[in-house]
Parts: sequence; structure tokens; C-alpha cells
Amino acid sequence: MKKVAIYPGSFDPITYGHMDIITRALNMFDELIVLVAYNPNKHYLFSVEERVEMIYEVVGKNNGQLRIDSYSGLLVDYAKKVGANVILRGLRAVSDFEYEFQMALMNRRMNKDVETVFLMTGYQWFYTSSNLIKQAACMGGSVKGLVPDIVNKKLMEKFGRPKGRVK
Ligand code: ADP
Repeated sequence: MKKVAIYPGSFDPITYGHMDIITRALNMFDELIVLVAYNPNKHYLFSVEERVEMIYEVVGKNNGQLRIDSYSGLLVDYAKKVGANVILRGLRAVSDFEYEFQMALMNRRMNKDVETVFLMTGYQWFYTSSNLIKQAACMGGSVKGLVPDIVNKKLMEKFGRPKGRVK
């Protein structure tokens, strides 16, 4: 059976932590769908279109194995729609665990044919989160090395380039 995985997330914005998971997942699954999963009532820094576009720019255009999509409904319904059998999530600190555990159990309760699979973060990305990156960038801190250059540039455009910062 073909192994099709969905990697859902806010990706607001995509970081090297996310990219590490994507790269490793491509060695594990026949197809990987990176899914910008959004809640229309939630506020994000980047629009869905901007987030999808940034992912395209950093992981490349759709090909036979990798696809990028967006969705605002129940993940298990999306999985059914595209014939995916795996939901892929990344794990960092223990603090991720409880929420991920709850979601995995809830998703399994709704659709027992879809398994949630976790990949441990690469040790360089243990403290990398989109939220922390936004906080640092918002105050003019450098997040270079934690996100691809194109994302760094978009963050600076959003928050304005602090005086004296050249890159
Ligand atoms: P969500 O709002 O769904 O948590 P995120 O974009 O923050 O969306 O995260 C999407 C997935 O990527 C989650 O499984 C999260 O744990 C994982 N992730 C985020 N940052 C990292 C990282 N630095 N290393 C590994 N996994 C990560």
C-alpha cells in the first residue's frame, strides 16, 4: 500500500525546524502533503497564500512526491479526501507532548485508519518555533539561521527593518 502522509501545521512562517521534518519524511513516505491547516477565526501573521507561497519557495514546487496545500476543516476529513494514511507531526520539548497526544487520540477516535506519526526534532531546532521567531523578529532581533533567507526577508518586511540592520 502506498504510504501517503500529511504534515499539517500553521507554518506561520515555515522554519528550518519544519524543513528538517519535511526532508526526513521524504525518505519515509511515497507521498508527502505539507498542509497549511488554518482556522478562519484565528489571527495569523501571514495570510494562507503567503504561507503557501513561502513553503513553495523553500521546498520547491509540487512534484510527484511532495505537494503543498491548504485546508480549514477537520484534518481527518482531508486525509480521507486525499487518501492519506499518516498524519505527521514534529516533537520538540516535553511541552509539545501533551497537546500532540490529545490531538493524536482525538484524530484516531474520528478516523482509526489514519495513524499519527511523530518525528523528533533535529537537536539544532529544539528551541525553534514560529512563535518565538515572530516575537524576536518583531522586536528587531535577528532570526537568521533559524529560517530560510526568503522567510527572514518577509519577516523584516512585515515588521519593518530596524535602523542599522543591513541583512
Ligand atoms: P501548529 O499550529 O499545528 O502547531 P506549527 O507550524 O507550529 O503548527 O507546527 C507544525 C508541526 O511542526 C507541529 O507538529 C510542530 O510540533 C512541528 N514543529 C514546529 N517547529 C518544529 C521544530 N523546530 N522541530 C520539529 N518540529 C517542529
